[in-house]
Amino acid sequence: MIITRSLYTPMTKVTKQLLQIPGTARTNILTHPGILGFITLEQNQLVHHFTEFTIRINENSIATNTMLIRLRNFQLSNGITNPVWNLDYDQLSNFSYRNNLSASILYRMRTLDFNFTYNGDGSSWSIPGASQSLLTMILQSNMKQKLLASFRNSSLPIYRLEQCVDNIHAQLLPWPIIKSSLGRSKKGRTPFWFNWLSSQHAPQTYDHNIIRRLWVPTTPMPSTDRRKKEWLYFLNNNKELSIGRLTSRSTNNTTIVLTHWSATSHPFEYMTCTGCTNKSWLSSNGICQIQLPCSRSAVLPDESFI
Ligand SMILES: [Zn+2]
Repeated sequence: MIITRSLYTPMTKVTKQLLQIPGTARTNILTHPGILGFITLEQNQLVHHFTEFTIRINENSIATNTMLIRLRNFQLSNGITNPVWNLDYDQLSNFSYRNNLSASILYRMRTLDFNFTYNGDGSSWSIPGASQSLLTMILQSNMKQKLLASFRNSSLPIYRLEQCVDNIHAQLLPWPIIKSSLGRSKKGRTPFWFNWLSSQHAPQTYDHNIIRRLWVPTTPMPSTDRRKKEWLYFLNNNKELSIGRLTSRSTNNTTIVLTHWSATSHPFEYMTCTGCTNKSWLSSNGICQIQLPCSRSAVLPDESFI
């Protein structure tokens, strides 16, 4: 196709010059039988498809809808955030056209400099958002073919960087959290493109210790239901927010004992603490237990925890 294009584009330009029509004129008019017998490479087979394509996208029939659905599907499965109509040849040449005749025709038309107009609502073909599209990042990589294949295969509606970062620190979120925010299972392998994105995303300094002067939790205190082993957050002796899981309550519910979970060097990762300055004692299996007033802890909302 690239060889065809390198021959064809100069040919159409020369022909336009011979006809003394502007170079920006639609290539389609060159094929009009009344102008001259301009039979181009591959054109015999293609012109039928091209004509039909242009008519179909605008005629508003069931065939139009089918075609538009196929094109939309092509756009979304490749993670393209701009309307597929506006892409030029260099952009379109990155994608796979297997099993999508409509997209394939669109690509062939672009390859041979054919123009067409889509008269529908173009704005509904853009994916809104404020951050960079992941596709543009991938296209700048020297591994773009491998990344594009992985990006297409992951079949999740993820198009922009903002869908992958937490909105306070712009830190890349763990893959299972991104998936679960889209209502998908947290299980499964992390795709190649996401691992690549992690390696590209500039690490930001992340402050694990959020220091608070006042204790104003926005969620309730631990419940008095003895069967519940809730996840809690609390202020430690250094007035830093910490995380733990309820172990036991005093009989009058004024104090609690919790298993301390401390932050690791990885954001969003916690593990049981094996001893720190806040420890009240160690459990028999060597895990940090902290006793504190009920009123200095509050329940972690379920949805923010795996
Ligand atoms: Zn501890």
